[in-house]
Amino acid sequence: MDFALSEEQSAIFDMARDFGAENIAPHALAWEKDGTIPKTLWPELAALGFGGLYVTEESGGSGLSRLDATLVFEALSMACPSVAAFLSIHNMCAAMLDKFGSDDVKARFLPPALTMETVFSYCLTEPGSGSDAAALKTRAERTNEGYRLTGTKAFISGGGYSDAYIVMARTGEDGPRGISSLIVEDGAPGLSFGGLEDKMGWRAQPTRQVQLDDCAVPAANLLGEEGAGFRYAMMGLDGGRLNIAACSLGAAQAALDATVAYMGERRAFGKPIDQFQALQFRLADAEIELQAARVFLRQAAWKLDQGAPDATTHCAMAKKFVTEAGSRVADQCLQLHGGYGYLADYGIEKLVRDLRVHQILEGTNEIMRLLTARALLAARG
Ligand SMILES: Cc1cc2nc3c(=O)[nH]c(=O)nc-3n(C[C@H](O)[C@H](O)[C@H](O)COP(=O)(O)OP(=O)(O)OC[C@H]3O[C@@H](n4cnc5c(N)ncnc54)[C@H](O)[C@@H]3O)c2cc1C
Repeated sequence: MDFALSEEQSAIFDMARDFGAENIAPHALAWEKDGTIPKTLWPELAALGFGGLYVTEESGGSGLSRLDATLVFEALSMACPSVAAFLSIHNMCAAMLDKFGSDDVKARFLPPALTMETVFSYCLTEPGSGSDAAALKTRAERTNEGYRLTGTKAFISGGGYSDAYIVMARTGEDGPRGISSLIVEDGAPGLSFGGLEDKMGWRAQPTRQVQLDDCAVPAANLLGEEGAGFRYAMMGLDGGRLNIAACSLGAAQAALDATVAYMGERRAFGKPIDQFQALQFRLADAEIELQAARVFLRQAAWKLDQGAPDATTHCAMAKKFVTEAGSRVADQCLQLHGGYGYLADYGIEKLVRDLRVHQILEGTNEIMRLLTARALLAARG
């Protein structure tokens, strides 16, 4: 058993961290105020191979393992978890195109996805179905030319901003087997967007409803097979959960690093506040939580890479554990900054707000417990 990163893995982490420190961190507060991320950032990230992290090399991607990819998200989140998480969604879509797309779909959509000229969003949630995603109601009716989609997708990260959407819609019976995945390009007739959602965190990336009103989609934009869309959507999520956990980990680590530095400078009662043992113990607890979170997350990623039978459960457990540890640590870091932690300029309150949603999306942490308990009870026999 070897817990160390290889030289190559350390190099991937350092490259992502350095890129984030130089090109994302200095703008993170401004982008949050603007409510958008400049589209020019994406081709720069794609030039590092981050547009298709685990798209196979044969398809032109970086061919990284899921463990390697968590290193990228952990490192980029040290600059801004909202930007890093948005990249994770695009990567989930790119991997779906590669894994399930026909040769024609791959030829048309993968190259611009890899260079990030085409940014992708993932559309599963609806106003009436979130955790119970298989109950979705958006319909895709077969026509001579392809499909006509009608329905509303809620909470879509990149809604009205992205260039293309992978939409899960019902082509058949009720339940998961009646769902297909279709690629809807921006500008498609019948595609429109709701107003910008006013959110607690993740404010740099726009979230809107994606509305489909008799939206015409060519038959050639069906991803994989009809009726397999829910399976595709769920397969993307195991890795998505690892990435979201990695985003919590990196951001919480950045908060802790900033807090350790701050506590050496800030004085109270005649000495630096890092000399109070009660506060040192809080730092120690934060360090222990993040070290434990990192090992647990990387083990889950390793299981997914190995195709281990319990990989889904481990991805769920890691998502729950790491996102909650990350939020606890970030909140403690805010407290240790005193009043300054509450001011936007110090960057800590943004991290607390950004990380909160990681307990809700890619499957809520209640659903993560549900998956864990189900596996536990099934193993009892
Ligand atoms: C900022 C943001 C960005 C998002 N981006 C995207 C995106 O890009 N694409 C996309 O498709 N979706 C996206 N989502 C949607 C997100 O995935 C859903 O919000 C999430 O899955 C929860 O669904 P819901 O909001 O409908 O809550 P509900 O499913 O209504 O859940 C409400 C509460 O009930 C609990 N609950 C539900 N069922 C059970 C159960 N069986 N047992 C125990 N507890 C249960 C939940 O855990 C939760 O606490 C985003 C959400 C947010 C907030």
